[in-house]
Amino acid sequence: MDNFALAKLLFPDVTASPEDMEAKYPQRDLPEGAFVTRIGPSPTGFVHLGNLYNAIIAERIAHQSGGVFYLRIEDTDNKREVEGAVETLINAMEYFGVHFDEGATAEGDKGAYGPYRQRQRAGIYHVFAKKLVEQGKAYPCFLTEEEIQTIRDEQMANKEDPGIYGKYAEKSRSLTLDDIKANIDAGKPWVLRYKGEMNNERIVVEDAVRGKIEMPRNFADFVLLKSDGIPTYHFAHVVDDHLMRSTHVIRGEEWISSLPMHIELFKQLGWKQPIYCHTATLMKIDVSEEDPEKQIKRKLSKRKDPELALAYYQQEGISNDVVWEFLLTLLNSNYEEWRAANPDASYMDFPYSIEKMSISGALVDMDKLRDIAKDTIARMDAETVYSNWLAWCEEYNKDFAELLKKYRDRTIAALNVGKNGKKPRKDIETWKQACDFMSFYYDETFKGEDDMAEQADEESRKAFFAKYLAGYDHSDDSSAWFDKVKAITEELGFAVKPKDYKKEPEKFKGSIVHITNMLRIALTGRANAPDIHEVSHVLGEDIVRSRLSKWA
Ligand code: GLU
Repeated sequence: MDNFALAKLLFPDVTASPEDMEAKYPQRDLPEGAFVTRIGPSPTGFVHLGNLYNAIIAERIAHQSGGVFYLRIEDTDNKREVEGAVETLINAMEYFGVHFDEGATAEGDKGAYGPYRQRQRAGIYHVFAKKLVEQGKAYPCFLTEEEIQTIRDEQMANKEDPGIYGKYAEKSRSLTLDDIKANIDAGKPWVLRYKGEMNNERIVVEDAVRGKIEMPRNFADFVLLKSDGIPTYHFAHVVDDHLMRSTHVIRGEEWISSLPMHIELFKQLGWKQPIYCHTATLMKIDVSEEDPEKQIKRKLSKRKDPELALAYYQQEGISNDVVWEFLLTLLNSNYEEWRAANPDASYMDFPYSIEKMSISGALVDMDKLRDIAKDTIARMDAETVYSNWLAWCEEYNKDFAELLKKYRDRTIAALNVGKNGKKPRKDIETWKQACDFMSFYYDETFKGEDDMAEQADEESRKAFFAKYLAGYDHSDDSSAWFDKVKAITEELGFAVKPKDYKKEPEKFKGSIVHITNMLRIALTGRANAPDIHEVSHVLGEDIVRSRLSKWA
């Protein structure tokens, strides 16, 4: 076979050489030890937590080392592509504060190593495909779907490895240049296959997360270019990560099984392979479907688990800081220890390290996320909480955004209630829940939720509110205020000390807890609410009087 003639026949339009490509995409001029990383998501329209999980690792190790982090859109699989998916992806990454130095952007490409969308790089892959054909390392294959299915069935029946290799590759490998020419002239579709070698060798890859991975070496004639001339993931990955000069490839562990193909290609093309970091799959604890008594650990599923979608965190208003903190606790075993020692530091100051990553499945525990959310928001000052919450409302709850803008000062004062003591209140976990939790601060959204009747009979209630309002002095400090509450409590025959009431309930109409619950319900609609004296001062005298007088 004249390989050069074959290469020309298959790629008549390719004029550039591999050397031209090397010159066009030179080694990056970066300081020693700087890492170049990327994420390569497919635009399926579904951006998942795993995308962000890998993005955080890649972003951290690139930026901590003074390197480059870029976004490459892996759109080689036409069938999976969804209209607007690239924008969705870019917006999601932006929302979560992931900043790329180069790559695909909503306005086009940024950076000297593009295009950053694989379908636009077809011409680049063809240069190397042609080279492999010239070297006798790749060949066109005209097997039809049916022929491949027949091979698959035979392999299944014989319990053999699936794929085109050995005797299964003979038909395509033995075509002459004339046969190939005739097929092409007849318009028969073809794919370009790598010419694998039957062997019993093994490969060893030093994975930065998992250590040594040993596997059988590739022996299959796997596909490099599909019939539309677009590469498979395998070929595109190798060409792109070489030319874009990635030093580290961070990707999910589902790609480990394809490593032999990638290693083979790096070797054949004479390129240095990047350092691989195969990350753990996101898992959750769930009850077993077979036995509801049993708990099982399973992969997060798109169908069953809304928390797998990044959009879920946006819609719920889970702050991007919280999601970062949460993922960092999954990613580095020492993150929580570091956070405890550095409560006020930004998570960006955490010295992230690949070595401290776990390789068993990463457990996504939403209770833990909620705890982190409460702690993170409790650490923010009220102004920051206000502006982050408002930004979310502008997008997801426009009516509430109007309230927040109208009552800016009151809101900030409300956010400061119980914030500055030794044990700050941790009432807010998501922006969506904040709209509900804080609703009582605004007459527009205030509503009675808890039942006043559970606290006292109507007569005591009316008597209490009448007396309370009569003696109410908005300028009372907290202890003067509370003395008054105690005095009325006693006067109405309620126990000032809850334990007295507990001991001899028949002697009292109730206890001070019932009295303060009534006050809370009247002021906030709920028995469980922040400090009454502080809340009253946030609301102001007019609102306090108007809400309480309804009950007197
Ligand atoms: N396109 C691949 C995916 O979406 C990316 C794998 C990689 O980062 O190399 O899973």
